[in-house]
Amino acid sequence: MYPFSFTKAANTREALKAGRSGGRYIAGGTTLVDLMRETVERPETLVDIADLPLRDLRVTERGGLLIGALVRMAEAAAHPKVRSLYPVISQALELSASAQLRNMATIGGNIMQRTRCTYFRDVTADCNKREPGSGCAALHGHHRTHAVLGTSDACVATHPSDVAVAFAALEATVHLLGPDGERRVPFADFLLKPGDTPNREHALRQGELITAVEILPLPRPLRSGYLKVRDRRSYEFALTSAAVALHVRGGVIRGAKVATGGVGTVPWKLPAVEQTLIGEHPSDRLWAEAARHAADGARPLPHNRFKVELLRRTVERQLRVVGGTK
Ligand code: SF4
Repeated sequence: MYPFSFTKAANTREALKAGRSGGRYIAGGTTLVDLMRETVERPETLVDIADLPLRDLRVTERGGLLIGALVRMAEAAAHPKVRSLYPVISQALELSASAQLRNMATIGGNIMQRTRCTYFRDVTADCNKREPGSGCAALHGHHRTHAVLGTSDACVATHPSDVAVAFAALEATVHLLGPDGERRVPFADFLLKPGDTPNREHALRQGELITAVEILPLPRPLRSGYLKVRDRRSYEFALTSAAVALHVRGGVIRGAKVATGGVGTVPWKLPAVEQTLIGEHPSDRLWAEAARHAADGARPLPHNRFKVELLRRTVERQLRVVGGTK
C-alpha cells in the first residue's frame, strides 16, 4: 500500500466538493481496495460516501423500480418487490461474487467495478487500460475468458458485472449528480466500449456520483430470469450469461428484452434476437432461430472461439426457460 488521504462525506454537498477536487468515491470498497493493494489504482484522496442518503429501493409511481446507488447487492437481491417484479435482477445479483461480498458491495459500485483481466491487475504487464499506449498483453497472451463482442485492437477485456447485464436488458437509466446538477443517462450509453481509449470506461464527469438506477415501467405480465455459465458453480465470473425478459399476451410475444454478459467489453444488448421474437408465438423452434443471432458481429480470438457457440446456446436455453417451453 502507499500513502493516501481519507475523508468521510457527511452529506452530498461535502461529497461533491471533495469529488470536484479530484477525490475518489468509495462505498463498499470491494473492488477499489483490492486494486489499491495491488497498486493498479493509486488515488491520492478517498471520499467515503457510505453515509449518503442513497439507499432508497422502491417501486416508482409509474410502476417501475428505483434502486439507490448505495443499496447493498444482498439487500436488492432479497427485496420482495425485486424478487417478484424483476427476478432477472435478483438472480443476477445472487449469482455474483460471494455472500460476504454481496453484503458489502453496492449497486453503484457493482456497475463501476473494473475488469478481471489478469494483465490489467499485473502492473508488470502491458495494458492499454491501465497505462494508455503500452499495448495489450492479452491479445497475444491468455485470452480464453476475454470478450468476443465490442472489442478493439486496443483492448478485449470483458465487463465483469452480472446485474449490469440485467440493467442493459431492461434498458435502465442511470441517475447522476454532479457539480453541475442532476442528469440521467441511458444504461446503454453509460458504460463505454474500449475503442482507442480503453482507459475511459464510463460516462461519469469529474466529481459526478451515481445516485440510483431506475427501471422504467414495462408492460405486464413480464417473465424474466438470468442464466450464468461459468467454470465452477460459485464465486466465478461468467463465461457467458443471458438476461431475458418476455412480455407474452394472448399467446404472442409482445415485448422482448435480451442482453448477454461474459462476452462483451460492456454488457451486450441483443436487438436482433429481440426483433426475431416480437410478434411470434413461443416455441422451441423460435428460441433456436432467435438465438442464432446472439453472436452476430463476434470477433473471437484463438482461445475464446468456444464462446461464440456457447453464447448462442446460453441465450437459447434461457429463452426456453423464461418463455415457458422448457
Ligand atoms: Fe489491458 Fe484490456 Fe489488454 Fe486486458 S484486454 S491487457 S485490460 S488492454
